[in-house]
Amino acid sequence: MRRMTDRTTDPWAEARANLSGWKGGLNIAHEALDAHVAAGHGGDLALRWLGRDGARRDFTYADLTAEAARFANVLAAHGLGKGDSVFAMAGRVPELYAAALGTLKAGMVFTPLFSAFGPEPVRTRMEIGRAAVLVTTEAIYRRKIADWRHEIDSLKLVLILGEEAPEGCVALAPAMRAAAPGFETVATAPEDPALIHFTSGTTGKPKGAVHVHEAVVYHAFSGRAALGLEPGVTYWCTADPGWVTGTSYGIISPLVNRATMLVDEAEFDLERWYSIVQDEKVQVWYSAPTAIRMMMRAGAEAAKPYDFSSLTFLASVGEPLNPEAVIWSEVVFGQPFHDNWWQTETGGIMIANRPGQEVRPGSMGKPLPGVEVGIVEREGGTLKVLGPGAVGELALRPGWPSMMRAYLNEPARYAKCFVDGWYLSGDLATRDVAGYVWFVGRADDLIKTSGHLIGPFEVESALIEHDAVAEAGVIGIPDETAGEVVKAYVTLNPGFAPSEALERDIRGHARKKLGPAVAPREVVFRKTLPKTRSGKIMRRLLKARELGLPEGDISTLETDET
Ligand code: ATP
Ligand code: MG
Repeated sequence: MRRMTDRTTDPWAEARANLSGWKGGLNIAHEALDAHVAAGHGGDLALRWLGRDGARRDFTYADLTAEAARFANVLAAHGLGKGDSVFAMAGRVPELYAAALGTLKAGMVFTPLFSAFGPEPVRTRMEIGRAAVLVTTEAIYRRKIADWRHEIDSLKLVLILGEEAPEGCVALAPAMRAAAPGFETVATAPEDPALIHFTSGTTGKPKGAVHVHEAVVYHAFSGRAALGLEPGVTYWCTADPGWVTGTSYGIISPLVNRATMLVDEAEFDLERWYSIVQDEKVQVWYSAPTAIRMMMRAGAEAAKPYDFSSLTFLASVGEPLNPEAVIWSEVVFGQPFHDNWWQTETGGIMIANRPGQEVRPGSMGKPLPGVEVGIVEREGGTLKVLGPGAVGELALRPGWPSMMRAYLNEPARYAKCFVDGWYLSGDLATRDVAGYVWFVGRADDLIKTSGHLIGPFEVESALIEHDAVAEAGVIGIPDETAGEVVKAYVTLNPGFAPSEALERDIRGHARKKLGPAVAPREVVFRKTLPKTRSGKIMRRLLKARELGLPEGDISTLETDET
C-alpha cells in the first residue's frame, strides 16, 4: 500500500500535524483522551450516557481518561499486554467505552461485537481473532459462551460487567475500583493494529478488517470535514459499536475532535429519539437509512410536537439514502440527512455530502479531499477508468490512513481487493459531470433484464415513493425470455393492508416511474425485510429463498418476518 507521509503531498498533513503524537509514534487513545487532558480540557464533557431506564451518567474527558486507565490496569494486572486481543459484547454501556479506550491505551487490539449475536457467530469471530480477553455481561456469558469457553485456547480472561461473576470469570466493577486511575499509554507505532471490525455480512461470510493506529489521522480529519465535528459540539451517533460506524464515528472521531458524544443504551424508539434530540440539544446527528425510514413510516405528524432547532447537521450511512428520505428530513427537521458512503474496509467516510456543499438528493456526495474515486471496469488484469455517466465499480486509490491493512486470516481475499493500483469496493456507482457519485447497487445485486442493467436502489427508491410502501428490497429472478425479471418485497406503512388491488397499484406506480422493463413484475408483502444487525437489507437472502438455494452465512441476520 502506498504510504503518504510526505508533508507536501499528504492531503491530511494538517490533521496529522494537529495530533500530538505519542512517544515518537501514534496511539488512538492518546489522541482521543490524554492529549485533551494534557492541554487543559479535562473538564469538558466527553460522554453523556442515557440508560434504558432513564439513568444518566456524565463523563468528562478527565473521567473517561481515568476509566480507560483503570481498564488498562485491569488488563495489565492479568499479565496481558501489547498486541493481545480484547473482544467486547456488552451493549451500549459506559464500561464498553472505557474498555475500548483502555484496550487502545494498553496497546492492545479491540474488537466489538453486537451483543445480540448468537453463540456460533461469537465463537467463530473469537477464534479467528484469537481473543485473549472477553468483556461481556453475565447473561450473555451464561447463555452464549460458558459452554465452549474452554475450547478457545487463546482466551485468558473473561470480564463480567457488574459486581459479581460466574466461576472462572472476573467481575469488572470491583476490579475497576481496585485499579489505579493512572496508566501511561503504551507506545504504539502508526502501523500497529488497533481494531478489528467484522463486515456486516450482507453479501456473504463476514470478513475481519484490521485497522491500525494511523487511522486516527483520518478520523480526526473526516469528523471535521464530513460531519462538522468540533470542540464542544453535542453529537449523537446512533450506530452500535458492534459495527464500524459505532467506533470510527461513535467513539474515536468525536473524542479526537473534542466533541461531546451522546450514547443511548436503548434501541430505536421514535418518541425516545425525538425527545433525545430535543432535550439534549443534539447538534450533529449521525444515523442510518433504516432508522430514517422508520421515522418516515411514523409520519411527519409524529415529529410536530418536538423542537429540533438545535440541529445543525444530519448525516446518514450504511445503505443508499432514498431521495424521498432526504426531502422528507429537510421538511421535518429543517435539515436534510446528508448521505455518505464508506465501508468497514475503508475505516472512514470516503464520499460525502459535506457541510456547506449543495445536496443532490439520491447522490452520496463527492469524495472527501485527498480521496481519489474511480468508476472502473475490469479488463482482464487491468482496469479501465470510465467517464461521467457510465456505470462501473466504485474504486478508490489506496493510501488514506484509515484503510484496512488486512482481512484477518484471509490474505487471498484481501489481495483480490486490489487491482491495477486501485482498491475495488464491490459496489457499483456512476459519477456526474459535477463530480457527485451516485450509488447503483452492490455488484452482486445487479439485475440484468432484457439487455438493461438495473440497480435495486433505483427501483426501491421509486417503490417507497408510493404512499403505502415503507421499505422495499428488490432482486432479479431468472426468466427464460428476459434473462432476469425484477421482483420486489415491500413492507407497508401504518393504515395499509396487503391486497391484490394494492399490489397492482404499487406495480402501476413503479411502471409509471421506471418504465415497464425496469418495474417489478411481482410485489410481495412482508412484515419486515431480512436485515443485518447494522440495518442493511439482505437481498442475497431474499434471492436464495426465491431460488431454493442454501441461505449461506446468516450470522448477522436480524429482522425477518414474512
Ligand atoms: P459484507 O461486506 O460482509 O457483505 P457490508 O458490505 O454490508 O457486508 P459494511 O462494511 O458494514 O458491510 O457496509 C459497507 C457497504 O454498505 C458498502 O459497500 C455499500 O454497499 C453499503 N453502503 C454504505 N453506505 C452507503 C451509502 N451511503 N449508499 C449506498 N450504499 C452504502
Ligand atoms: Mg462489504
